[in-house]
Amino acid sequence: MGASHLFELKNVDKNYTKDNQLVWAVKGISFFVDRGDFVTFVGPSGCGKTTILKMMADLLKPSGGAIKYLDFDIGQARERGLIGYVPQSPSLLPNRTILENIRLPLEIKKNQNPNRLKEIMSTCELDEYADYYPYELSGGMRQKVAIARALVYKPEIILMDEPFAALDEMIKEKLNEELMKIRSVFTTTIIYVTHNIEEAVFLSDRIVAMSPSPGIIVKIIDINLPDKRMSTLRKEPVFFSEVIKVRQSLRNI
Ligand code: ADP
Ligand code: MG
Repeated sequence: MGASHLFELKNVDKNYTKDNQLVWAVKGISFFVDRGDFVTFVGPSGCGKTTILKMMADLLKPSGGAIKYLDFDIGQARERGLIGYVPQSPSLLPNRTILENIRLPLEIKKNQNPNRLKEIMSTCELDEYADYYPYELSGGMRQKVAIARALVYKPEIILMDEPFAALDEMIKEKLNEELMKIRSVFTTTIIYVTHNIEEAVFLSDRIVAMSPSPGIIVKIIDINLPDKRMSTLRKEPVFFSEVIKVRQSLRNI
């Protein structure tokens, strides 16, 4: 037997029942992620991106197929805190400060290293906001808090569902760069969802393109950019050519 991938979906299906009718959200989803990969799902609304992420987070059970995390089943991986999940609209507890929100997982699971919390606060540039309450922060800052909270468990992989979709372009670019930094400090593997092709190119090693009704994977596109991604990369010809490559590739679906 060959070495296992960090995460693997094999022929995964998911249907929902709506008004007594079976609706296929996704069908025949197969892909894998290796340690350190940044893989991004793109595709129109309703093609099943959130459904796939929720199945990978063990929040939804597939209707068919298999999801493996190394040689564990997905439930064991979740119980061990190996999978972090940042939902589309992260719920921070309103009556807890930023630090108290981020620390929450440590209170539930006590065998964690408190020094890690300090490192997370500083890498996510949240130190000066530690005593603020969620309502005092901008949308972008709240998303960073949600990412910081997901990091506390020391996950091997973080699943992020359109975390910056609602933000202004400039703020999104800044947070994209910060996400690259956070990723390199904590060497996490990331699965990401976005509608935005430039964002997907900037962040990813691979883009998984989907189409709807039912949601299927239509293409997996490799991104050939340097490992270190800074905002200045967005002005370079190599970045434009990758964006054009992806746009053309998606047009031919
Ligand atoms: P995306 O995140 O790409 O917008 P979703 O995964 O949210 O797509 O949804 C995929 C499909 O599954 C859509 O057609 C959606 O209407 C349907 N769907 C999602 N959640 C449910 C649910 N709880 N009940 C019924 N249908 C659902
Ligand atoms: Mg979604």
